[in-house]
Amino acid sequence: MCGIVGIYDHEEASTLSYLCLYALQHRGQEAGGIVSWDGDKSFVEKGVGLISDVFADKDTMNRLPGKMAIGHNRYSTHGGSGKQNIQPFLFNFQNSSVSIAHNGNLINLKNTKKMLEDIGAIFQTTSDTEFIIHLFSHSEKDSFEEKMLDAFGSVQGAFSVVMMHDDKMIVARDKHGLRPLAMGKLDGSYVFVSETCALDLIGAEYVRDIKPGELLIIDQDGLRSFTIAEEDKKHCIFEYVYFSRPDSEIFGTSVDKIRRKFGKILALEKPVSNGDVVISVPDSSNTAAVGFSQRSEARFEIGLIRNHYVGRTFIYPSQAVRDFSVKLKFNTIKGVLEGRRVVIVDDSIVRGTTLKKLVRMIKKANPEEIHIRIASPPVKYPCYYGMDFPSEKELIANQKSLEEIREHLDVDSLEYLSVDGLLEATKMPEENFCTACFTKNYIEERKEEESL
Ligand code: 5GP
Ligand code: SF4
Ligand code: MG
Repeated sequence: MCGIVGIYDHEEASTLSYLCLYALQHRGQEAGGIVSWDGDKSFVEKGVGLISDVFADKDTMNRLPGKMAIGHNRYSTHGGSGKQNIQPFLFNFQNSSVSIAHNGNLINLKNTKKMLEDIGAIFQTTSDTEFIIHLFSHSEKDSFEEKMLDAFGSVQGAFSVVMMHDDKMIVARDKHGLRPLAMGKLDGSYVFVSETCALDLIGAEYVRDIKPGELLIIDQDGLRSFTIAEEDKKHCIFEYVYFSRPDSEIFGTSVDKIRRKFGKILALEKPVSNGDVVISVPDSSNTAAVGFSQRSEARFEIGLIRNHYVGRTFIYPSQAVRDFSVKLKFNTIKGVLEGRRVVIVDDSIVRGTTLKKLVRMIKKANPEEIHIRIASPPVKYPCYYGMDFPSEKELIANQKSLEEIREHLDVDSLEYLSVDGLLEATKMPEENFCTACFTKNYIEERKEEESL
């Protein structure tokens, strides 16, 4: 999980990058940055926090001149949250400037690391992203294009990438198309973004998705497309469950439409026969909850209000304030919940801590009953492809049965969407998706847990 952007040949490249990162903020709130190129030199500005914090001072944008820029929002990565791991990375080698922004996670890097170090590579970060640069710079192929194909062709895992190499912009997507990556055009300039909601913000026109296994090189000769590897579609289905914004189109379909369908199918598979109201846990389950209510007798109500201004820094309360973190974010509307049979629709349960605290809060509003419906199957297995799913031990559905989770949450009933229902909602062939965190059907074998 991360958001990326690339702007090629526009007078306001860094400002447009900033706006796109702002639209992609949901994909990562930990850190962000932009690298620009003015035809001669690269410039970089990055920092910890939301994009509006990193670029709070107007002067930061003035320090990013040029008609080409790339940007990155960081979620939390493989490799730790140290400052040296904030992207985009900028390297100088052989008198040229190379920068990179990566969404995804590379796997099985141990042997590659040894090989690279044996031939003199010095790693500057603990991030998997840096491997692409070293593989490129150490490639023995002749041309620039071949070196790039060589680098991307020798890594496994998930990558949606935008890069700059002096005057060139390079865009690549892994052969599975695990993470989204779209191309748009604005005033004749190319724009590359994780999700189409960023194109909408800057008024760019959507052109197409980068194909799984495709490498694009854009320079004064125009845009050229190459094949890194033959397409083997395995889109991350969790993008539809939670990551992507409902106003985006990813993998060829509107997120809103599919997420709503998750809710509708859930209502048919696991109805609540006598529910009075359906509420969401804003904002992540709004769309699924609306879908659920459209297929049930109970009506959709707003029972939880979210405070959107929860920043990263706040004063920790004393021990006396229980469930403080969830109270900072949510409060109940008592009139909606009191005396009612309430159906809470949430998008997913990972650790189970959020819902546990929310249920305690909702009970204070004296509902008659609480039924939980989850618009995705139980998350039982860790993700290797860039999603911060914890170890099996921390995944509540890996450790507890359905009944045990219901008891733990202390609610009247708990049900999840089935894997079949999840896939049916997409109306796409089952084999086009990765569902490993639900099914354990990993695409590639991960050879060992790696620490780089
Ligand atoms: P948990 O069960 O871990 O307490 O919280 C799960 C909730 O967090 C889900 O309802 C979903 O909205 C959101 N969520 C799902 N996946 C992730 C994730 O990878 N990271 C974060 N920060 N939230 C997630
Ligand atoms: Fe997405 Fe789950 Fe596959 Fe990870 S394991 S890529 S979160 S579907
Ligand atoms: Mg949620």
